[in-house]
Amino acid sequence: MKEKVIFEKSAPGRKTDYLRKPEIFIEEADKLLPGKFLRQDLNLPSLGELDVVRHYTNLSRLNYCVDTHFYPLGSCTMKYNPKVSEDMANIEEFFNLHPYQNEENLQGALEIIYNLEKLLCEITGMSRFTFQPSAGAHGELTGMLMIGAYHRLKREKRYKVIVADSAHGTNPATASMCKYDVVVVESDKDGLVSVDKLIKVMDTDVVGIMLTCPNTLGLFEERVLDISEIVHKKGGLLYYDGANFNPLLGVTNPFLMGFDVVHLNLHKTFATPHGSGGPGVGAVGVRENLIPFMPVPLVDKKKDKFYLNYKLKHSIGRVRSFYGNFLVLIKAYVYVLRLGREGLLRIAQNAVLNANYIREALKETYDVAYNKICMHEVVFSCVKQKNKGASALDIAKRLIDYGIHPPTIYFPLIIKEALMVEPTETESKETLDYFIRVMKKLNEEIDSNLQILKDAPQTTPVKRLDEVKASRQPVLKWQKNGS
Ligand SMILES: *Cc1c(COP(=O)(O)O)cnc(C)c1O
Repeated sequence: MKEKVIFEKSAPGRKTDYLRKPEIFIEEADKLLPGKFLRQDLNLPSLGELDVVRHYTNLSRLNYCVDTHFYPLGSCTMKYNPKVSEDMANIEEFFNLHPYQNEENLQGALEIIYNLEKLLCEITGMSRFTFQPSAGAHGELTGMLMIGAYHRLKREKRYKVIVADSAHGTNPATASMCKYDVVVVESDKDGLVSVDKLIKVMDTDVVGIMLTCPNTLGLFEERVLDISEIVHKKGGLLYYDGANFNPLLGVTNPFLMGFDVVHLNLHKTFATPHGSGGPGVGAVGVRENLIPFMPVPLVDKKKDKFYLNYKLKHSIGRVRSFYGNFLVLIKAYVYVLRLGREGLLRIAQNAVLNANYIREALKETYDVAYNKICMHEVVFSCVKQKNKGASALDIAKRLIDYGIHPPTIYFPLIIKEALMVEPTETESKETLDYFIRVMKKLNEEIDSNLQILKDAPQTTPVKRLDEVKASRQPVLKWQKNGS
């Protein structure tokens, strides 16, 4: 059924009178900005309170989300988001903080930032972290700016950045934002960075290498120590894209692998739900040698007092206002403290176990891009199915009819008809078994009823949308003629 927009439900004259008007605020605001708040010309819908509540509740129920459905997206997956983290971030004393408060009455907040930094340093092996970047891509930019500043101080002229073809798209995008030439190294037959090819392109004109680990094929870079040696020998640095760090938590860390800079997406791995561009933090950690280049301020401690430290010799400056999305830091802090060392390790073990359980169960039905032990996600290739008439897109859309959010498709680009599944660490065996049964069933449907895949999804208010048009020409305004 097509859902009406709220304007269509409006009944002129109907009101929710018993809600108190925020008069004091409006009067005050009107004095400050006359006419800006008390606008009479807005054509707002008139509805009763219940109608409004039902409208938005029903809209929200059209949504697929982790609270209602299995959501095995792949690559940018929302992982474990415990409700307790949300509760803590909702404490009034936290969310009413103002960034212009002085250090003196921000001590508790600074302590949380300070402590979270210590925990992430322990988890990654890095020496310091900044929480300013608002996203993973923003963290990459911050990291590469620091690496650039490091080379410039040594008066070295380097202009190339090496990126694996299995890297996340933001890696080459970041390198070119920094005006570097991007040199792509192809994967070898195992889906890992080809060390032979790396040796050929690594030279003293290379700034460094950006590695996504696990890579976007869900594989661990087994020869990472060789890679680190090759790059460091020529004076380059190693950037670690740790957006999806769940499979490695407590198992190993980027320091041991030889990385110089790392970013973690707190809004993937550390308990902040994401999507629709909601607040995130691309926390960036560095080794000792890069600390002088970090964004300011950092939070430091002197005689039991926490303070904002702006004194970094070669700081690249700020990369955003204030100190990052503070409430996201609270969620990450609660997450790490609640799980502890053992809990974090269990996250990693379950993330890997769940993905491999699915891989094993489906490997006869769907081709696995690289059929060996994977990390937190597994990439299938639906070429066999495509040859019989059902593309990865058809399969993904049909999953919706079975109450499963579609996995990531056609990414990574190097796999034909890719369908990328990350079950995440917190799904039960029953849910995984249901997914496996459905995937097998879809494969049977290709022979028995191909058209049903072509017409999927059947159960949603709208069918297949023109996604390109939706993003290029978003029509967000309701027009009276119903268009
Ligand atoms: C999600 C992701 C990014 C980018 O993070 P954003 O917060 O979306 O900018 C970078 N690398 C990898 C591997 C990712 O999964």
